[in-house]
Amino acid sequence: MRLSKTLYLFLLIALAVNNAFSADIKVRVLSSYNVKTVDVKIISGNYMMLCNNLKVFVNDLIPDEAITLTFHNNQIRVEKGIEFIGTYNQIEFIGKKYNNVFSLSSTQIDRKRYYEEDLMITARHEMLFINHVDLEKYIAGVVQSEVFGSSEDVEFFKIQATVSRTYCLANLNRHLKEGYNLCDDVHCQSYKGRCTNGDILRGTFESFSDVIVDSTNKLISTAYHSNSGGMTEDAHKIWQVKVPYLLSKVDTFSIGAKNYQWEKAIPRQQWINFFVIRYGDAYKSPEKQEQIFNFQQKERIAKWVIDDDTISTKDIRDYFKLRSSYFSVEMKKDTVYLHGKGYGHGVGLSQEGAIKMVQLGYSYIDILRFYYNNVSVIKYTDIIEF
Ligand SMILES: [Zn+2]
Repeated sequence: MRLSKTLYLFLLIALAVNNAFSADIKVRVLSSYNVKTVDVKIISGNYMMLCNNLKVFVNDLIPDEAITLTFHNNQIRVEKGIEFIGTYNQIEFIGKKYNNVFSLSSTQIDRKRYYEEDLMITARHEMLFINHVDLEKYIAGVVQSEVFGSSEDVEFFKIQATVSRTYCLANLNRHLKEGYNLCDDVHCQSYKGRCTNGDILRGTFESFSDVIVDSTNKLISTAYHSNSGGMTEDAHKIWQVKVPYLLSKVDTFSIGAKNYQWEKAIPRQQWINFFVIRYGDAYKSPEKQEQIFNFQQKERIAKWVIDDDTISTKDIRDYFKLRSSYFSVEMKKDTVYLHGKGYGHGVGLSQEGAIKMVQLGYSYIDILRFYYNNVSVIKYTDIIEF
């Protein structure tokens, strides 16, 4: 669904107004880059700039004005155009209006990034960039970074926004010792900047402050994957931890989607070697090989038992870099063929299954409650105080 420009603007304003009822978080951005020099450019709004907590310019920075920051001798050298301003430990850009947007560009990053609201840069062995931003705007940015292109359905974006918000709030302390809440890398959640997609903004707005909790009102661990292959996996079998809302179940919604099936050919000797190295020379015998050349998973099996040996299908997945551990084995001539289903660990929500459910008319809450057992969707303000 394409949104008109008017509706897009309405959603931007709606998110800004909601701001008054929402929380801010601190996200370290450009965390996977070692940036030596960067241009900070004002795109919209007005910014007050503080250097070591002091105002160095009488007037605010306005659109098109740019500041160059360079890391030198463990300090930040500040220039405006060709004018040298000074050398400091900490620089802050503080937005003064509603729609404050700035960009960061550097030859050391893949492309120019656009962010909203405030930015703090601290000299700490390198330049540390922290975007102080409204939670909902951050969530919309995460959804755009993580799933843009996989669906155009607002209902699907509501699911992703609710999942990302739940993850964010359950992990607010992850980097607290380092002075921020979350990083922008996949270690936390991918966040490549502000959301510019109207459908994603609408999905975030329409699921405003929704989070998923278990039967004890605790934020859940929102595991998800690309495609379950028709059956989700029990968290206990993958991570050895029992999680009452991450149970295995039949998922017909994932059947037939893009990542539903896969196949991989492995040379016969390479397949045999995997077993010989781990489980001994017995696997050189035709009797054992007969077993490792014929294996069927009609349902997901975490432990493949061959006589006295228990073989983890996850280990096989990791070693051969398979799309999933849900596969069957067939031997043809000198090649072993693995016929697999699904993509990812299979625990929790299947993204392609969720997209199919949206197309069938299920609501985002129905879909979350299908993939996460016995959970509720509530407003986080009911359980968390900022
Ligand atoms: Zn992180």
